[in-house]
Amino acid sequence: MIEDKNPQRTSISDLGEFGLIDHLTKNFSIKHKTTVKGIGDDAAVLDFKGKKTIVTTDLLVEGVHFDLSYMPLKHLGYKSVIVNLSDVYAMNAKATQITVSIAISNRFPLEALEELYAGIKLACDIYDVDLVGGDTTSSNKGLLITVTALGEANEEDIVYRNGAKPNDLLVVSGDLGGAYLGLQVLEREKQVFQVNPKNQPDLDQYTYIIERQLKPEARKDIPELLKKLEVKPTSMIDISDGLSSEIIHLCKQSNVGCNLHEDKIPLDPQVISTCEEFDISSSTVALSGGEDYELLFTISQDDYAKIKANPSLTVIGHMTDAKEGMHLITRANTKIAIQARGWNSFKGNQA
Ligand code: ADP
Ligand code: MG
Repeated sequence: MIEDKNPQRTSISDLGEFGLIDHLTKNFSIKHKTTVKGIGDDAAVLDFKGKKTIVTTDLLVEGVHFDLSYMPLKHLGYKSVIVNLSDVYAMNAKATQITVSIAISNRFPLEALEELYAGIKLACDIYDVDLVGGDTTSSNKGLLITVTALGEANEEDIVYRNGAKPNDLLVVSGDLGGAYLGLQVLEREKQVFQVNPKNQPDLDQYTYIIERQLKPEARKDIPELLKKLEVKPTSMIDISDGLSSEIIHLCKQSNVGCNLHEDKIPLDPQVISTCEEFDISSSTVALSGGEDYELLFTISQDDYAKIKANPSLTVIGHMTDAKEGMHLITRANTKIAIQARGWNSFKGNQA
């Protein structure tokens, strides 16, 4: 599906490992005072000066987490940074540094890695983070990427998954389900393409959902907004596996229950129209489809007035006593138990 716009193929073995690292990282500049030493020594040196350090890491494997037949390498580089930054923001923290480690098979020419690093650089620039190190090695088959993100926060600002209380409001940023549906469209077009390679897909009506899949954004703005509004969530998590499984995490770790209102779940019009086309329920897509990278959090009811007018935030339910359980209140006003059907990489189920 993706044309090779880079017919030039420079073998990475021509450069050697050190030449390769230099080549790929030479355009990255250091932006943060907390980065004392970045790339170039045995290890990076960071100084967070009395703040707490946040660390998170994610491993992405070709064929498991991404498919290069429709995922351009630049987007992959971008997305691999975004998924990590999202975890830092979910702690109500500021992301400041990343490391990037790659294992590459010899089927990747230098130009492919340049694309990957162009995406990584774009994410570093947009999200204001420093690339401070990584590791480079070969793989027998396929591409692996591990990004580690570091961040900083004042101890009193950090938000964990375990602080939700009964009667707290359940709030989500943005809208849900788009990334999963974008993947369904891409998978369908890939199959059409395999049957008829001359068929050029017309994806105009799916631009938003495809972008949600291929070029997701992390909600850097939400911790900043909450600080400005003087709201500290009682618990928070990012939505990587689907709303239902993230709600279950918050409830279990906080020892509360919840009532989630189906009619309040924020959906983009393109999600609704594409669900009609695929004949699937938009609520199911929002509840079980992953990779939206929105933030899900709880706030005290006292803070409701501070957030209610904000277009980025939607109240979708409230927390209850643990013994009341976790329920979805449907549009028909029936109560059904929330079950985790989120993305699970061990079930061989990419949904
Ligand atoms: P070592 O042999 O000590 O592991 P390397 O030669 O792997 O060191 O790395 C040299 C420097 O380049 C280090 O600062 C390391 O963090 C950085 N580095 C290595 N690979 C990458 C990469 N893929 N992306 C960014 N930085 C890298
Ligand atoms: Mg190394």
